[in-house]
Order: sequence, then C-alpha cells, then structure tokens
Amino acid sequence: SKGAAMVTAVAGRLHSQRLQVCHTLAPFSLSPGQLQQVRDRMRVDLERGLRKGTHTGTPVKMLPSFVCTLPSGNEWGKYLALDLGGTNFRVMVVKIRSGLRRSVRIYNKIYAIPLEIMQGTGEELFDHIVQCIADFLDYMGMKNTRLPLGFTFSFPCRQTGIDKGALVSWTKGFKATDCEGHDVVDMLREAIKRKNEFDLDIVAVVNDTVGTMMTCAYEDPKCEIGLIAGTGSNVCYMEEMRNIKCMEGNEGRMCVNTEWGGFGDDGALEDICTKFDQEVDEGSLNMGKQRFEKMTSGMYLGEIVRQILIDLTSRGLLFRGRITERLKTPGIFETRFLSQIESDRLALLQVRAILQQLGLDSTCDDSIIVKEVCGVVSRRAAQLCGAGLAAIVDKIRENRGLDHLDITVGVDGTLYKLHPHFSTILKETVKALAPLCDVTFILSEDGSGKGAALITAVACSLCRGV
Ligand code: BGC
Ligand code: MG
Repeated sequence: SKGAAMVTAVAGRLHSQRLQVCHTLAPFSLSPGQLQQVRDRMRVDLERGLRKGTHTGTPVKMLPSFVCTLPSGNEWGKYLALDLGGTNFRVMVVKIRSGLRRSVRIYNKIYAIPLEIMQGTGEELFDHIVQCIADFLDYMGMKNTRLPLGFTFSFPCRQTGIDKGALVSWTKGFKATDCEGHDVVDMLREAIKRKNEFDLDIVAVVNDTVGTMMTCAYEDPKCEIGLIAGTGSNVCYMEEMRNIKCMEGNEGRMCVNTEWGGFGDDGALEDICTKFDQEVDEGSLNMGKQRFEKMTSGMYLGEIVRQILIDLTSRGLLFRGRITERLKTPGIFETRFLSQIESDRLALLQVRAILQQLGLDSTCDDSIIVKEVCGVVSRRAAQLCGAGLAAIVDKIRENRGLDHLDITVGVDGTLYKLHPHFSTILKETVKALAPLCDVTFILSEDGSGKGAALITAVACSLCRGV
C-alpha cells in the first residue's frame, strides 16, 4: 500500500541519516591496537626528548624543572605565589606550617586577563601582572613586606636554574609579543622595576604540572607524577638524572616537565588525526604546534565538536540544515557545557535547554546527535591521555628495574574534575595499557599555589642551609 511505502521511505531516510552520522564519527573510535601504538610512539618520543641537547627541539621537549626532592612535610614559612596560564591569573599568600600543626593556608585574589593583554605586547602583559600584584599587596596590607615568591607559569620554559627559565613558545590562548626566548623571571623583575612601588624576591619559576605533583606529594610520598587535564594538557614525573642527557650528574632524580602537548608535531599522530582536528589546528593561534594538546585539552575539545556539528549541519543531518552565526562562533562550547551535555543524569530535554542557552535551536533528534558527538570527542581525549600516561608509568617502572610499580598521579584541571566520564575512561585506559603498574589518582587542591610555595620553601631552606 501507499502508507507502507511511505513508512519504508521515511525509515530508509532515517536509516541513511544514522549511517552518515556514524560514518562521520567513526574515525574518533580508536581500536586497542591504535591506542597501543600511541603509547609506544609516546615512549619513543619521551626517550628522544631526554637524549637531545638543550638547543635542538623535539616534539616532546622533556624540560628539566630543577626540582629534585619531594616535600618532606617539614617546610614552613610565608610565601607569595603567582599563577599564570590557566583560565585566570591569581595572586596568593601561602602560609605553610610544619610539625604538629602542619597545614597550608591560602589567601588569594583572582584577576581576569583580557584577551587584548594575552595577545598584546610582552611589556603590557607583565605590566598588567605587576599591577594585579600591587592591588593584591594593597588589599592584604603587605606592600612593605618582602616575601619570597614562587611563580607558576604554565607554559614550556627551558630552565637553567630553579629561578631561571626562557619561554620556549606560548600555548593555549596566549600570544604576547617579544616573550619567546626571553627569561620569564627577568621579564617579571623588569616590570616590577618599571612600576617602582615594591620589591619582590623571586625564588622559583614552576610549571603547573610540577606544582600539582608537589602538592599531592606533600600528602602522599608515592606521588611522583603530575597531570594537568584542563585548558591545556601536560605531565611531569620524576626521572633518573642519568637519563637526562642535557644535565650533568648521574645521581638521584629530577622532575621533568614533558610538555607532551607537543607530541605529534612531527606528524606522529597523522594516522589518527581527522579532518576536524586539522580544521581546529588551522584556526588556532599556533598552527602545527601542540597537536596532542589539541586532541586532549579543554580549550580545543569544544572546537572539535563545533567543527563536526558544522559539517553535519551543512550536509542537512542536523539543525534542519541551517548553520547559524552562533555555530560559526569559535569557543562557544566551553568545558563546562560539554560536561553538562554529557552528564547521564540529564534528560534530553535539558540537553536541548543547554543548546538553547548557546543559541542553538534543536529538535530532540538533534540533541541525541550532539550528545553523541561530544561523547566520541571526549572519549578519544581521555583514551589518548591514558595511552600517554601508560607510556610514562611503564618507563618509570623500567627505570627502577621493577616487575611491578605502585605509583600515584596528582591531577588538576577542569576537564578531569568537571567532566562526567573523562577520569573514568582515562583510568581504564592506563590500566589496560600498563598492566604491570598500579596507578592511583589523587586530586590536587590548589596545586599551583601550594606547589609553588612548597617549591619556594624547599629552595629557600636549601639557601638557608637547613
Ligand atoms: C603548556 C604546559 C602546561 C599545560 C597545562 C600547556 O599548554 O604548554 O606548560 O603545563 O598547558 O596548563
Ligand atoms: Mg592551572
């Protein structure tokens, strides 16, 4: 009959739509074999980074941090800490007590960094930072107290001491001019001199991964890895001095900032890169750089999602085939939206409400597809991080000649903390790909502030000779 024929036609169209969506998303599902390959290539690149001298770049930079000891718990004192490179700029006073009243207390103020400052001149950026510090010191009534300062600076720095480090290249949303190749501590000191209102004693420059590891190691001495899965993506871990070729000395260990976000910058991820990853890279501030970070971190996952949605819409598979101005706007899918959309407790109606908030009119079918798109993108991100982490724990195990390694990872970052599935998938992947290691994950609380203060405390006590 005519009715039956129509039903068949509609079913056929839906079926073909479904197939087209599946086909588009298929490249995001990585097989166990592909993930093993990612792990093995990461391992190769960790070794390459460790072998290379300071002046030749490798995709995974493996930067010495000059942090050689984990906290003992005997650290004490009052410190200033700065945190630049995440979502906001923060200035903090950190009070550390030792002994029976062992504790860490933080007073902080958060400052926004306007886009035109992130992407203006280096002088403007550092003047702005110093202006925020001045405001904070006024607010705390501390303009005349000169505290030792730890600077958490969450970008790749080639350090030549605990208080010396040249910025290799900006990442994430930063692109201030005349900074790359320059010493970060010098730039801060010069800005303080220009302001001529107060003086600071800058003791340490710290990557956020290192701060996170130290913060968690203060609670758990088995914590010898720091992971950030947030706006950016990165890992540090305790490596044997004998393996760090650009450093003299073979005794003991040093924390190495891997800068694994640069993995793939030589094409090592070409076979799993999709055309959507390509588009996100081309629309970024640092084309061709940080390819692994662009597949795994909060700043870019929403952009991958947006590229897929544009593609599906242009093929009439979504949003009634209408590409709105909203959908063409970079950055609309922040981590918190992805996290909400993927929450299992959320009914599809609520997914539609979120899309509505974003200015996207959706049908029920649309919301199902959007949720699916978010799911494949964040799953792949968690699996890739897991594969990378598996390479690291297994390397540490081999370094120590062990058949079995028990180790803790300190973690920070909005993607890990807010997303409903990211951490579960990450852990499953590490377990599957590093079966000889037992890996515990602990959340860092305020890693950047506490960690910078702890590192500053260790550095000061070394100077004091205690
Ligand atoms: C930076 C790293 C940082 C990570 C997490 C990356 O973009 O290159 O230095 O640790 O983001 O903040
Ligand atoms: Mg941070």
